[in-house]
Amino acid sequence: MSSATLGLDIGGTKIASGLVGLDGTVAEADATPTLGSGRQVVDQVAEIIDTYRTRHPIDTVGLAVPGGVDPRTGIITAAPNLAWLGLDLADRLHTHLPSSIFVHVDNDAGAAAWAEHRFGRHRDGDSLLLVTVGTGLGGGVVANGALVRGFTGAGGEIGHLPLLPGGRTCECGSHGCWEQYASGQALHRAAQAAGWDTATAGYDILRAAHQGDSEAADVVAGVAAHLVHGIMILTAILDPARVLLGGGLGTDPLFHFFVQEAAAQAELTPPRARVPLHPASLGVMAGVIGAADLARHATCGIATRA
Ligand SMILES: [Zn+2]
Repeated sequence: MSSATLGLDIGGTKIASGLVGLDGTVAEADATPTLGSGRQVVDQVAEIIDTYRTRHPIDTVGLAVPGGVDPRTGIITAAPNLAWLGLDLADRLHTHLPSSIFVHVDNDAGAAAWAEHRFGRHRDGDSLLLVTVGTGLGGGVVANGALVRGFTGAGGEIGHLPLLPGGRTCECGSHGCWEQYASGQALHRAAQAAGWDTATAGYDILRAAHQGDSEAADVVAGVAAHLVHGIMILTAILDPARVLLGGGLGTDPLFHFFVQEAAAQAELTPPRARVPLHPASLGVMAGVIGAADLARHATCGIATRA
């Protein structure tokens, strides 16, 4: 029986896992509710790995975590949830696991971008921008065939691109972050400002736009224009073959239509005439697939670090 690579994506509400093949396919996919955060999940993660080890000879484990990971040390250096800060997850897990098992830790959004770059339906070229539009805005960057992690592990945190100087206060403590203008929360706020004064204002205005309400369409188009504005800035730096939109709002067909409309109006620096936008294709398992594949590359000494 040949050795296997296990991927785990540790989210705030669930831990997704699976055995990831060389071609990015996932076997024995599973998901279990997360019983804590940061140091509290170490025992649970070790138990999940042990469950797979009873059935398969696991030699490599890739972990995707909700925080920036220092590429030199594997320590989590930035995270919205303070319980993760300063955690050396690979080191903690090795108190439970044999030292022969290689454990690699990376940021969850970066892992998802890496998975789309390696195995996604729209993979093309060696540079890719993944923009995940859910309640907030996140994503990952692959440049010249390597995942961008930066100096401290905070590289690729595109949601906090300072789009408007002195703009709306962000949860990160800064002002005018891209996330404040192009996200599910931003659409919800814009809908409420336009009179959709309900708890589901963001969803309601999207549905009204779908039904031909021109005022609703203008609001959705405004959020889409902010999204494209940030994409154009990143495109000027990266020149990616493709830009992928992930997340609940990013993969919504109607919102995607408005983003395409805004992108068609955008002026790009020659020789680019336009940047192709596609929905991300790997869905909720992208983090698992990317974490496993990044771990496998790390064991082979193949550079994945920009
Ligand atoms: Zn911010």
